Amino acid sequence: MSIDVYNPATEEVIGSVPETDSVDPAVAAARAALGPWSALPRAERAAHLAALRDLLVAHADELAGIITAEMGAPLAIARKVQVGLPIAVLSSMVDLLNRDECEERIGNSLVVRDPVGVVAAITPWNYPLHQTVAKLAPALAAGNTVVHKPSEVAPLSALRLAELVREAGLPSGVYNLVTGYGDPTGAALAGHAGVDLVSFTGSTGAGRTVAALAASHLARVSLELGGKSANVILPDADLAAAVKVGIGNCYLNSGQTCTAWTRLLVHESQHDEVVDLAVAAASKYTVGDPTDPATRLGPLASAAQRDRVRSYIARGVADGARMALGDGSVPDVGYYVAPVVFADVDPASVIAQEEIFGPVLSIIRYRDEDDAVRIANGTPYGLAGSVWSGSPERALAVARRLRTGQVDVNGGSFNPLAPFGGIGDSGYGRELGVHGFEEFTSVKAIQL
Ligand code: NAD
Repeated sequence: MSIDVYNPATEEVIGSVPETDSVDPAVAAARAALGPWSALPRAERAAHLAALRDLLVAHADELAGIITAEMGAPLAIARKVQVGLPIAVLSSMVDLLNRDECEERIGNSLVVRDPVGVVAAITPWNYPLHQTVAKLAPALAAGNTVVHKPSEVAPLSALRLAELVREAGLPSGVYNLVTGYGDPTGAALAGHAGVDLVSFTGSTGAGRTVAALAASHLARVSLELGGKSANVILPDADLAAAVKVGIGNCYLNSGQTCTAWTRLLVHESQHDEVVDLAVAAASKYTVGDPTDPATRLGPLASAAQRDRVRSYIARGVADGARMALGDGSVPDVGYYVAPVVFADVDPASVIAQEEIFGPVLSIIRYRDEDDAVRIANGTPYGLAGSVWSGSPERALAVARRLRTGQVDVNGGSFNPLAPFGGIGDSGYGRELGVHGFEEFTSVKAIQL
């Protein structure tokens, strides 16, 4: 049996992948490769990862084209973010291996970091290459071997990555790819007794299932799940900048970004002004063919995702939110949704509580700073967030009060070395940088 892959802009089948019968051979291959790979000197593992990084650089345009075709991100975003980030992540792991021993002395103990073993990496479709490399690079750097199951919606970039891994000369069995649906293939992997750590990125519901499956054999689990992040604009902020950057963050990748600031929190006295600014900024997001350089919003990744987003939009209207923008036209063919700005959103309503994963912004009024913090912290999620203020100290003080894994102050830029991950329904465990590397290690104390 095979699974068809669709181009979301044309609705055409552009490839297919096999539905894996059994994950046993892949897990066995990873187990067999584990000893020799983990025994390699760090500098040699670094050289392998550098070779893979160099191939990603050499094939960056090709990889961006595959990602655009399989999930619809505009080419410029695919090149800069979807391919640029994995290159940066691989480089960070090469640097880490060449720089730090990651060992520590505590009294008469030497604390060292061993690999955990065989890692199951299960990834979604929204940043297919980045989410794979964010697991693969630190896992391999730490001496683990990997079995990867990409999303059935966008698996083609993983197929190409597997070829590049081989071309880079990594030993056979170090990276193993299995394709198939979440259930049964992903579930078989998460529940496999030969897997020591499951690193999962995807929806909160599937994350719960995966954690339960891994618990059956006490595999370690790391979960990067959804979000409903708040962009808190304090009254003394540069409103125009805060709204422009906020819209850009919310709509990045057609809103299919787990860290998207989908709730804009504004002081009640500035609500209407901010709605006008948001509508003006959002109106500039041209919807269309993701291969056209003028396009800023490509299609959603699948028909199912488009339908899900549309149903949330209808729910917002039914629940009394005011649609300040939302009647933009979209191409007849393709899984498109025009950008939406909801004003006067009740923070307890469904569209303000649940992850929509589309280009939909909810603007919410707050009374004072405490109210803003209460609303920002008032969802089950806690992945990202943002605070804007004319006073960086004030913004930092509010950032400290947000219950979330990351916060950007006054548009602070994404840092690929900073720990990335969430709390609550956004999951647990961290990716990227030293923290992401440590996630794939087991500490051992040697008393001297
Ligand atoms: P999904 O949970 O449906 O699928 C993610 C992956 O898990 C896919 O490979 C899928 O096949 C697999 N899967 C699904 N059910 C499974 C099961 N029962 N057992 C094992 N594997 C299973 O999510 P999606 O629709 O592909 O991605 C969108 C979701 O992912 C959004 O909710 C988004 O917020 C979240 N996400 C989170 C992050 C993060 O870093 N926090 C990043 C990207 C996406």
